[in-house]
Amino acid sequence: MEIITRKTLLYRSGLGFYCINHVQGCRHGCRYPCYAYLMARSHGRIKTYADWCLPRLVTNATELLPKELFRLKTKPDYIHLCLTTDPFMVGYPEVTDMSLKIIRLINSHGIRCSILTKGKIPVELANREWFPADNLLGISLISLNEEFRKLWEPETASYADRISALKSLHSRGCKTYVHMEPYPTPNIVKQDLKNILKAVEFVDRIYFSGWNYNNQVKQFRDYREFYNDQTSLVSHFCSEHGISFE
Ligand code: SF4
Repeated sequence: MEIITRKTLLYRSGLGFYCINHVQGCRHGCRYPCYAYLMARSHGRIKTYADWCLPRLVTNATELLPKELFRLKTKPDYIHLCLTTDPFMVGYPEVTDMSLKIIRLINSHGIRCSILTKGKIPVELANREWFPADNLLGISLISLNEEFRKLWEPETASYADRISALKSLHSRGCKTYVHMEPYPTPNIVKQDLKNILKAVEFVDRIYFSGWNYNNQVKQFRDYREFYNDQTSLVSHFCSEHGISFE
């Protein structure tokens, strides 16, 4: 795996929370398109999609982080991994190792992590001796259709693998969530949202949002009405199952 070094690691994102991205690029190569890819290209950090799909590990991440955590004036509620890459990238054990080290370091400062992946979340995260904070462990999930996944999220973990890894952590007492975004319209894939919700009814929290940055969505004539209906379906499902909804 290619490597780079950085001068800083921890930052407050435009969304208001602290975040760490210890890899540049992402092998998962999502084609929605990936917003992080568009940003990296517009800022000149990468040139092409192929370049984006060749991840580069920030090798000095675990050297930078303790100093940056120590310098924090106020302890944040949580630190997020990751906004512009995937902490459990399929096929890159180096990334997983680094992510676990980073989460452990953050937890050792009494700060919890929120984690989001399209890979398999490692079961080690259930070990409360190593990871003592109440981390929030999440997967992205917008379909159960593997043909759809191979087209739009080509190098990610299968949906079944993502869900079973998350379920295993839930059964060991971890807090879990599902991030359903960007949810596709029926002209992109025909599917029943109820089946997806049923597959993850064990989680503590669900975030749902539409596909806002692809014109194919607008080609579905009633896309606004569709998203209103799907949002209220998720909201009802969550209240019936005691799941918090965003
Ligand atoms: S997993 Fe996330 S960061 Fe990686 S390509 Fe897909 S959307 Fe982008």
